[in-house]
Amino acid sequence: MTTDIAGNSMAEVNPKGSPTIMLDGHIDEIGVIIQYIDDDGYLYISPIGGWDAQVLVGQRMRFLGTDGDVLGVVGKKPIHLMKTEDRERASKFTDLWVDIGAASRAEAEARVGVGDPGVLDSRTLDFPNDRIVSRSIDDRIGAFVVLEALRRYAEKPGVARVVAAATTQEEIAWHGGGAAISAHSINPKIAIVVDVTFATDHPNIEKKEIGEHKMGGGPILSRGALISPVVLGRLRETAKQHDIAHVVHAVGRDTSTNADAIHIAREGVATGLVSIPNRYMHSPNEMVSLVDVDNAATLIAEFCRSITADTDLTAR
Ligand SMILES: [Zn+2]
Repeated sequence: MTTDIAGNSMAEVNPKGSPTIMLDGHIDEIGVIIQYIDDDGYLYISPIGGWDAQVLVGQRMRFLGTDGDVLGVVGKKPIHLMKTEDRERASKFTDLWVDIGAASRAEAEARVGVGDPGVLDSRTLDFPNDRIVSRSIDDRIGAFVVLEALRRYAEKPGVARVVAAATTQEEIAWHGGGAAISAHSINPKIAIVVDVTFATDHPNIEKKEIGEHKMGGGPILSRGALISPVVLGRLRETAKQHDIAHVVHAVGRDTSTNADAIHIAREGVATGLVSIPNRYMHSPNEMVSLVDVDNAATLIAEFCRSITADTDLTAR
């Protein structure tokens, strides 16, 4: 296991093997950053990553403060005091503040500072039908899948060197962040990126736009312009051989995942994208099926076993 300057963690099996397969799951999550502290000790926050500010209203937050965790609550004017037009308007970040119980700016500043990060304070729950509910399933579940796939591969390794990477900085920009750095150092010929994607089996979602992805319907395999047809073909073949339910998802351009950076690393990496259907993305209550998680790990471990030194990766 190794770490690097960007905070990525890499675990490796069969270091002398060939070719090299990189498995990527990002471990960063969306959060907030303290922007300003006022004279009364209230904190004003800005987003880290893509937030719907409505989700923040009424939540508890946990900040990484000067001497450990600091809890806060997101404050907003009560409904009783809102004017009609306020009630119909969506909340913005600048309408909200965080109350950490401090009575003054000095008291707040003794516990937190400008630039301290925070996340939602919510716990993981087991739900019926082999589901879990948690914040930051996007994409801790992907990081879990790649490590679990590596663990299963290690039980009976093939000829390939396989490196599972828990990568950083995915949520904050489109430049590839930790995954770009990690792909450079690992120098893979093949990569499988594991992220979450939108489950479409809940109300008010448009299947015509993104296809049909059910909870428990299996991992979703992306097919499109930047996905290696060789890797996708091998994933589908492996799924068929091992009787793993899966869905194909069409993506005509970039994928909004680490696949976008990894496929153009160095002299090019044959990249596949395996996604776990996830409900309520970027909320305190994201939901996935553990059956899909288990199937994704098996699929990827078996995929890695099927790769040999002379697997032809040329896109034709
Ligand atoms: Zn995300």
